[in-house]
Amino acid sequence: MKLRLTPLYKFSPEALAFVKVKWGRTKIMLMGVLVCIIFLSAVYGINQYYGDILGLAYLHETTLVYENKILREQLKYLTKKINDVQKIIAQVSDKGNELRLLVNLPKLEIDIQKVGVGGIEENVELTSSSEINDMLNNLQFLVSKLEREVMLQRTSYDEVAKMYEKNRTMFEHLPAIKPADGYFSPNSYGIRLHPILRIYRMHEGIDIVNEIGTPVYATGNGVVSFAGRQIGLGLTIEINHGYSIKTIYGHLSKILVHEGQSVKRGDLIGRIGNSGLSSGPHLHYEVRINGVAQNPIDYFFNDIHPVSIARK
Ligand SMILES: [Zn+2]
Repeated sequence: MKLRLTPLYKFSPEALAFVKVKWGRTKIMLMGVLVCIIFLSAVYGINQYYGDILGLAYLHETTLVYENKILREQLKYLTKKINDVQKIIAQVSDKGNELRLLVNLPKLEIDIQKVGVGGIEENVELTSSSEINDMLNNLQFLVSKLEREVMLQRTSYDEVAKMYEKNRTMFEHLPAIKPADGYFSPNSYGIRLHPILRIYRMHEGIDIVNEIGTPVYATGNGVVSFAGRQIGLGLTIEINHGYSIKTIYGHLSKILVHEGQSVKRGDLIGRIGNSGLSSGPHLHYEVRINGVAQNPIDYFFNDIHPVSIARK
């Protein structure tokens, strides 16, 4: 093949004239390039025809393999993270259950721990696309499960806070202190010989012996439901604490509250006396639940002394 090129002229500043362009070297170079193109095309054609025997697609494939590897690593990292979060939520659930027990709420069934056993296998070799698909599905399932668990925990913590508040109010109303300073026999509650009537009968409270005028305190928050004279008990105060709990203070020398008055634990409500059927100055004290007398000693908490909590 003979390459025919029309002669071209160019202006030469040295000669100040148009001179013929020499094609000799340019022609050889162009021929060389052409031969190269033809040769490479032929090689490529043969290579493709015989199924890439030269492995020319290798470079392209390595990029994909590399990208895939990165994606797999990211997937594994994500799996590890989700498993970690799952463990943390399981710990939060445990802590939540401890709190629930403290405020007398039933334990929550910890769903997450069931899922947590095993969770998602972190070290699985992701070699096929179906394995990757399975793992993605598992992750999706677990994330929605974690979401539900977090919501459940939030509701549970709200419940604990409400219950705590409710319990706190109840504990404030519960009789919890000795109503007056003085001596008492731990066995004075129950069947005993009445000191004046000289007959055996049920003694429904305890007697705290002390001088006339010794302060008597409300043993829990409540409302004075009776303040006046009663047969036998003399000057008497009754406090309704709610929750079907009532306390009674008898044989007083002075009543310092009136019916309908709200009192708090430690409020001064009266003074020890000898009124009613009494053989000497003492306080007769009763705790009743639903009208049934309880042993008041069960409602004395040793670490709380009436004077230490007295308000007036
Ligand atoms: Zn008594």
